[in-house]
Amino acid sequence: MRWFTPVDPALPGLNARYRLGARAMRLGSLLSGVPLPAATLAPLAAPLPIARWLADELKNDRIPHVWTFASSAVLICQAATEAGLDIRGARFTGGGEPTTAARRAVVEGVGAVLLPRMGATETDILAYACVHPEAPDDRHFFDDRHALIQPGPGFAGTPGNHGVGPALPAKAMLLSSLLPSAPILLLNVCMGDQAEITRRNCGCALEQDGWGVHIHTVRSFEKLTAGGITLLDIDVIRVLEEVLPARFGGSPTDYQLLETLDGARARPEIRLLVNPALGDIDPAVISDVFFNAIGGGTGGERLMELQWRSGGVLRIVRELPRKTASGKILHLFLDRT
Ligand SMILES: [Zn+2]
Repeated sequence: MRWFTPVDPALPGLNARYRLGARAMRLGSLLSGVPLPAATLAPLAAPLPIARWLADELKNDRIPHVWTFASSAVLICQAATEAGLDIRGARFTGGGEPTTAARRAVVEGVGAVLLPRMGATETDILAYACVHPEAPDDRHFFDDRHALIQPGPGFAGTPGNHGVGPALPAKAMLLSSLLPSAPILLLNVCMGDQAEITRRNCGCALEQDGWGVHIHTVRSFEKLTAGGITLLDIDVIRVLEEVLPARFGGSPTDYQLLETLDGARARPEIRLLVNPALGDIDPAVISDVFFNAIGGGTGGERLMELQWRSGGVLRIVRELPRKTASGKILHLFLDRT
């Protein structure tokens, strides 16, 4: 019925495929007699158009269901509250990012529902929300589509993905395709996520249909995710170790990224720690150099840059990088409930 986009696909600097793709999809839908809506701009920093649409639908006795990222659902609910809009009964399916207790609390605080989903381009859907969750992101794993195993303590620390990937934590998710129609055949492939796997009787319809395996507390260990955008650690590390020291001095150990799932007001936040010993540097200049280095080209990286910039996701903090075993990028999973 409606399509909202956080980034204007016609922005200069973006590859024309985003603008043309949106037009082609609309044209194709018109030709096939199932018209899809054109995109409405709703930036992360100003998602009010979505909240307004939700309130209007509810007023007309319809139940709107928004397919989005978990943190974007939070932003929409906060915008609704600030504007005094009643969106009780609205539903969100949130994928791409962890559904944390803090995020769920914001959405449920306005009387809406947040349903966690997990999927990937390589796999399509992997898991969907349980009606009687035992954790904020409790989901039924669709074990007819994929087999799921974990390395366990015995194989933790060995390189993943048949020897070419980073070291696997004990609870890494290793996926194998089971459907003959799978878009890509996977054999014990790790997509960079770890999870708790349980089998229990939750009593919901998905269990009655045969999906008894649950996953929850799904967290990425080799990706950086915020505001609906995911980057591989390895792409970001190049910027931290080469680009920033070359421009502002110091060594790779003077820079570090801190991913906080729930920063202020349950919003996603990436903090770039810069050693204070490097002297007086304008934070705006640091963030500009960081974004320009990450957003090279006109493709997905540029899209990420625009989305993080408009959402105010990155914060420059002058403090000593933290010394931990996990190194350049710290994934802090703080649920500030
Ligand atoms: Zn269930």
